[in-house]
Amino acid sequence: MTTLTKTEDAPAPTGPESFLSVRDLRVQFSTEDGIVKAVDGLSFDIARGKTLGIVGESGSGKSVTNLTILGLHNPRTTTVDGEIVLDGKELVTATDRELEKLRGNKMAMIFQDPLTAMSPYYTVGRQLSEPYMKHMGASKKEAKDRAIQMLEKVGIPQPKVRFDDYPHQFSGGMRQRAMIAMALMCDPELLIADEPTTALDVTVQAQILDLLKDLQQEFGSAIIFITHDLGVIANMADDLLVMYAGRAVERGSVKEVLGTPKHPYTWGLLSSMPRLDGDINTELTPIPGTPPSLLNPPSGCRFNPRCGFTDKVAGGLCTTTRPALADGRAAACHLTAEQKQAIFIDEIQPRLR
Ligand code: ADP
Ligand code: MG
Repeated sequence: MTTLTKTEDAPAPTGPESFLSVRDLRVQFSTEDGIVKAVDGLSFDIARGKTLGIVGESGSGKSVTNLTILGLHNPRTTTVDGEIVLDGKELVTATDRELEKLRGNKMAMIFQDPLTAMSPYYTVGRQLSEPYMKHMGASKKEAKDRAIQMLEKVGIPQPKVRFDDYPHQFSGGMRQRAMIAMALMCDPELLIADEPTTALDVTVQAQILDLLKDLQQEFGSAIIFITHDLGVIANMADDLLVMYAGRAVERGSVKEVLGTPKHPYTWGLLSSMPRLDGDINTELTPIPGTPPSLLNPPSGCRFNPRCGFTDKVAGGLCTTTRPALADGRAAACHLTAEQKQAIFIDEIQPRLR
């Protein structure tokens, strides 16, 4: 076991309004090459009925964070430190049995890859109805009716017939939809959607997003939504968390973060992604370089090797000192508030038009 030190991140706001509270979460993998520090001192909150969007390049720790919340990491190779509190229940220290129970009806995940969630050996119908019987105490008939209804809601044609199919008899897009139905079967209070609609066409995608909103309206569910699609974020999320190399670099309401981003990484990310208004004439600027290896990440701010503004910070702080992420609307960066504002207005905003 590695000894973990406290980070300088101020805790995000807590209180009765926080349904899921993540505090100083650290997730490390032991590999042949060394320790991968995949998540490094992450804190965030979600209230009931709210959606938190998470954005960040591949490898920034989005999926690892969410698999850890669900307790789906491999305990033999993974060290988890910090706190995850869901509706008053501590999950980092919870037993496998407790977590399994919670995964049934309290929390559920829509995975990037449906094959992660579905077994090839059982029919789709059985995989939908069994957890429902177990967790909701439903009869076989009730569970089957519910499964057929959910398959219909996610747009599977002939759901009564399809109930008896195996996953391999479904197309990729249908498997994705069946998995979404599976995640929604027990009306989870926390739903984690990890790039849930990437493989789906626009019409089906809109249908699924509506379904998630319905779930939220009816049950006050909290949703974590991971996507590369800023349009989806703007449409679905209340708050936005920007992750880089296992840390949160910026957070705020969606409007604040997309409208007046404050972190150089967020500036780079937004300049490299198609804008919401879809102006095809806007040139996209990729962020120079690549994300760091998490075996041996840069000291100080993990973004410093790719940042164009470190020379504006006195004393070489960017390479020596981790910038803290303050409460509420915040960016973890050593630039002063005045510098951030001036750079945004002069250099970044014109590029985002
Ligand atoms: P994202 O979802 O943001 O694209 P991930 O959360 O999947 O990124 O991965 C974060 C980092 O953790 C990556 O560098 C990835 O290679 C590493 N990682 C994920 N799972 C494991 C594992 N089981 N063992 C070792 N490293 C892992
Ligand atoms: Mg991922």
